[in-house]
Amino acid sequence: MADLPVLQIKPERLKSIHAGHPWIFSGALAARPKAPDGPLVRILAGKQFLGIGYYNGNTDIAARILTSRDVPIDAGFFAERFRLLRRRKEEWLPQRTNAYRAVFGEGDGCPGLVVDKYDRVLVAQFHTLGMDRLKPLVVEGLRQAYGPRTIVERSDVANRAAEGLADKPVGILHGEDATDVEIEEQGFRFLVNVKEGQKTGFFLDQRENRQAIVRYAKGRTLANCFSYTGGFSVYAASVAKRVVSVDISKPAMEFCRRNFALNGHAVDDGNFLAQDVFDFLKALEPGAFDFIILDPPSFAKNKKQLPNAIKAYTTINSKALEKLPDGGILVASSCTSHVDQSTFIKILHQSGVNARCHVKVLESREQPQDHPHHLSFPEGRYLKFFILQKWPR
Ligand code: SAH
Repeated sequence: MADLPVLQIKPERLKSIHAGHPWIFSGALAARPKAPDGPLVRILAGKQFLGIGYYNGNTDIAARILTSRDVPIDAGFFAERFRLLRRRKEEWLPQRTNAYRAVFGEGDGCPGLVVDKYDRVLVAQFHTLGMDRLKPLVVEGLRQAYGPRTIVERSDVANRAAEGLADKPVGILHGEDATDVEIEEQGFRFLVNVKEGQKTGFFLDQRENRQAIVRYAKGRTLANCFSYTGGFSVYAASVAKRVVSVDISKPAMEFCRRNFALNGHAVDDGNFLAQDVFDFLKALEPGAFDFIILDPPSFAKNKKQLPNAIKAYTTINSKALEKLPDGGILVASSCTSHVDQSTFIKILHQSGVNARCHVKVLESREQPQDHPHHLSFPEGRYLKFFILQKWPR
């Protein structure tokens, strides 16, 4: 694509590109492209070709690399990429599962794009200006790779404003209308509201972690805090004595009930609490539950919010440990990418110190293969997931 505007990189700033990082910061530019009318640029250092990416002159990240090959960026380019991702992801997907993350941004070579597949419905989020401008090519690529019934757009994401995008579009990009979609996940069934649910409608990244907790939940009395529509609850209810779901969102709680019914579990009113988890834990009778799950939303959207996030994680984990009996299970998760693995371990250790107990690690887990992160892109590693046991000192 020799006709694209050229982005010149300072030769002394090539290290991270050669190391495989897809972002080019504005400080690394030797020259900005002249009058670009689209987002695409050829990335060069002198005469050396580095790749093709998209450019945004108003953000710290000036460009994101789409490919290091000199090929046309058209619908066929995206279709080929999506087909390859589909083959790999479906090959490794657990049985009786028809929902997965089809495209995970940088981790899948598509910076700024997220696509979740819910059976035959695709839900796409365009996070960046460049990816937003490439939308027609992406939609056509998805059509070719998946032949979906519907493609829904859920670009109601926070960072679009910083990208210079004034709107947060939500709607149908292709095919028939869709609102509630039923999916199967490892033999369990869930209703996903793709139009009004949180994010794209369901938290697919905890799929394998949901399965992992089942062996520890047998016969236990379990409180699933920040339950959303009951992902962990539905799995646990197949083996636990009692499962209580707690979430501040009333619509989420309504879907939680519907998901219990859908899986043939009893729907007992007292087990679905639309409540603030901080209040719930504070008021909790010690020993009332011998299994507590904490899977809160991201507590820090940027580095500045990190101290508050650490405080919030420490509060809920300390409280939960304090209220569990000896031998009780705590599942502690964090999806905040600014809180790295070692920081989260320190938080959990401190929580044990606060609750005057030992914290035994039964399992340490991460995000599944359909949410991949590359070693060259540590920013993509975000999910921490610990299965812990309270142990007397
Ligand atoms: N565990 C869920 C995903 C949780 S997402 C799953 O597997 O699907 C985080 C959830 O926390 C959201 O549903 C949100 O409504 C809820 N939430 C956010 N703040 C809360 C609070 N203070 N108290 C209770 N729930 C809260």
